[in-house]
Amino acid sequence: VVELTKVEKRFGGNHVLKGLNLSVRRGSLLGVVGPNGSGKSTLLNTLSGFVKPDSGTIKLKGMDIAGWPIHRRAAMGLGRTFQVPQLIDELGPLENIAVGLVARERATYLAPFFQTPGVRKANAERHQASFATFAELRLPNDLLDLTAAKIPLGLKRIVEVGRAIVSRPDVLLLDEPTAGLDDSERAEFGQLLRYLQGAGMTVVVVEHNVPFVLEYCDELVLLESGEITVHADMSKPLPARLRSYLSYAPEHHP
Ligand code: ATP
Ligand code: MG
Repeated sequence: VVELTKVEKRFGGNHVLKGLNLSVRRGSLLGVVGPNGSGKSTLLNTLSGFVKPDSGTIKLKGMDIAGWPIHRRAAMGLGRTFQVPQLIDELGPLENIAVGLVARERATYLAPFFQTPGVRKANAERHQASFATFAELRLPNDLLDLTAAKIPLGLKRIVEVGRAIVSRPDVLLLDEPTAGLDDSERAEFGQLLRYLQGAGMTVVVVEHNVPFVLEYCDELVLLESGEITVHADMSKPLPARLRSYLSYAPEHHP
């Protein structure tokens, strides 16, 4: 469902992605591991359009989207979260989730003064969809009264997932979603990923936690200095290089 071919990215003299090839199966839960600075976030940014590759092709559902702007990729069915949550601090969780719909429609914010009945209906529908997603993610109701600035980090990450999934994307990209979570929160997050996969999403998750990737991923990619050195099917014995990387189990140092 996603296919990257010979994707190159340099930031000045820093060669970050070195002719990356990656194919993601529809319905898969694919983990991406690798040392700090190896290009994991850049890979997700390149897929979602926040970073433009220097060369190479990026195919989503068979279409080359390499030159497409972010909103068109969202409309084609890409959702994502960020390594550092990017919520609008002044807004509550529902409004933050609704941003995912607005982004997909490429609608602009309309002040109440300009709201026609049609716009009011669209807003009511967005609110309803956002609340359904909020409930689907089992976010606690007392969050509804908070602005994003006051939401604890772990829950911010879930609200970000809400913003990404409210538009029912085909492909969900998650950048270290369990960083800062404790073991039980992380297990809950793993269950959430299984649920999203069951709902038909293909999930690509950058993740440092080794037990987590072993438990939940169907495929695992090792990214080292901008190159994919291993692409493993987790139902088969792990390649030696991946085994040794995982057993060395570097802790994440943001
Ligand atoms: P981490 O595990 O710390 O999140 P990462 O694998 O996600 O690391 P990236 O964030 O993709 O790594 O960064 C890869 C390299 O690209 C780093 O050297 C980083 O400094 C550089 N880089 C990333 N984004 C930019 C940018 N927007 N402008 C310039 N350099 C960048
Ligand atoms: Mg990163």
